[in-house]
Amino acid sequence: MPALTPEQVVGVVGAGTMGGGVAQIAAAVGHPVRLFDLQNNAPESAISRIDTALARLVDKGRIGEAQRIALTARIRPCDSVAQLSECALVIEAVAEELAVKRAVFSDLEQVTSPDAILASNTSSLSITAIAAELKRPERLVGMHFFNPVPLMDLVEVVTGLRTDQGVADTVAATAAAWGKHPVRACSTPGFIVNRVARPFYAEALRAIQEQATDVATLDAIMRDCGGFRMGPLQLTDLIGQDVNFAVTRAVFDSFYQDPRFTPSLVQQELVLGGLLGRKSGRGFYDYSEQVDPIEPRTAAPAAPPKQITVVGDPGAFQAVLNPLADNAMEIQHRDGHGQFLEIDARVRLAVTDGRSATQRTADEPGLPWVVMDLALDMDATPRIAIAAADQASDADTAPVIGLFQSLDKAVSVIDDLPGMIVMRTVCMLANEGADAVNQGVCSAEAVDLAMQKGVNYPRGPLAWAQSIGLGSVVQVLDNLARTYGEDRYRVSPLLRRAVAAGGNLL
Ligand code: NAD
Repeated sequence: MPALTPEQVVGVVGAGTMGGGVAQIAAAVGHPVRLFDLQNNAPESAISRIDTALARLVDKGRIGEAQRIALTARIRPCDSVAQLSECALVIEAVAEELAVKRAVFSDLEQVTSPDAILASNTSSLSITAIAAELKRPERLVGMHFFNPVPLMDLVEVVTGLRTDQGVADTVAATAAAWGKHPVRACSTPGFIVNRVARPFYAEALRAIQEQATDVATLDAIMRDCGGFRMGPLQLTDLIGQDVNFAVTRAVFDSFYQDPRFTPSLVQQELVLGGLLGRKSGRGFYDYSEQVDPIEPRTAAPAAPPKQITVVGDPGAFQAVLNPLADNAMEIQHRDGHGQFLEIDARVRLAVTDGRSATQRTADEPGLPWVVMDLALDMDATPRIAIAAADQASDADTAPVIGLFQSLDKAVSVIDDLPGMIVMRTVCMLANEGADAVNQGVCSAEAVDLAMQKGVNYPRGPLAWAQSIGLGSVVQVLDNLARTYGEDRYRVSPLLRRAVAAGGNLL
């Protein structure tokens, strides 16, 4: 199905944060836009905000003055729904309430032509439910933009049970013509992004609850080792603890309290205390001017090891070993099962497999274990997070710290949390993505695109899981499930099936 052509009229109902952004990007590609809001003057205010934003772009030389004037002139404020009658597509961005949205679409159905497309920007309501009382439910589709609309590249095109596939195709093609990346999803709680992203926050909140480390170190590990643009705790401060908590609660309730989505008591306490993040001046961090930013905990300098034995396949350690070959360090190889290093014949070092280092030492007696967190790029990572078994002394751990410091990496020693921080987060993101695919919500490619474009993840969770090895991901999740005895870490059947088939998800 082709996209709308630029001369076709686009309507926007609701001239708030999202409606204003949608009006701007539709007008940017040449559509005449009709903007309506219940509040008097809201469309005019939105147009003036758009004009101010465009003026800044003119100042920066990104667009010309004539372009600014033409774009703004294409958006016409309306004071009644009737003035949207000639629209080929109307996008609704009013309050997030089912009754309000149903009433808006019922009014729109009265005034628009039978072949007009009606789209909702809802982030949490069922598209099937919004369409339920319409005469032409097949014309209604979800068109979920992300905030700020002009900057965020993703649009989730969401079909309800009665949405015509051709309508969804046209909306996806139109979103692409507007410079966005459309992904297709079925109407289920959280669609793709708000569902698959839950573990990004949930695992960090749990790590804090279990005192794995402090807030600044956790965020630094997720940024430096995981390659995420922001740490999950600083991101919840930016989003607002109340808003993030409400989304988690809504997803949890929509899935009939599936323990996978259990809200965090740590976050609840922040919300109850009014520590909502940046907007209230304090959340996980204190934003008052008198307070210095908290630095992540980084280990003091330690001497590098004298001798390393590589046992089995070096795997992820290859990137560490290459530069060490030039050093004075003695490196030996020994055949064996596994991928680990013996350091100065006093500790064993491996990437976490979901067990704590303490458990691993009990399971595999001999030298005590130190485990290392996942890094997006082992070669380039500026920081390494490690955790030592309770059976290891500080003197045992010191040469591991020295090893990474000799490679110019900062080292953060965290408490012995099973699955550590980046690893458990990425495995849980991939697990949720796989489950969405398993339940027919979307394709595997859509999961990865949605998480990269909608929330700026450095890599799609499914491609990332494949690079770790799906078998290793399942092992981490199984070990977490065994440690916690909770359904939260149950493995998606699709992930297990892919491992059994020796295949991949993408
Ligand atoms: P907002 O409060 O900024 O704007 C909503 C506007 O709708 C207001 O101007 C209000 O006067 C108007 N309105 C309310 N009822 C109306 C009606 N019956 N008819 C016409 N206008 C009406 O809200 P927002 O943040 O722009 O969110 C709008 C929608 O987009 C919601 O469904 C929200 O869930 C969704 N959404 C928001 C974000 C976000 O980050 N803000 C992201 C994605 C989706």
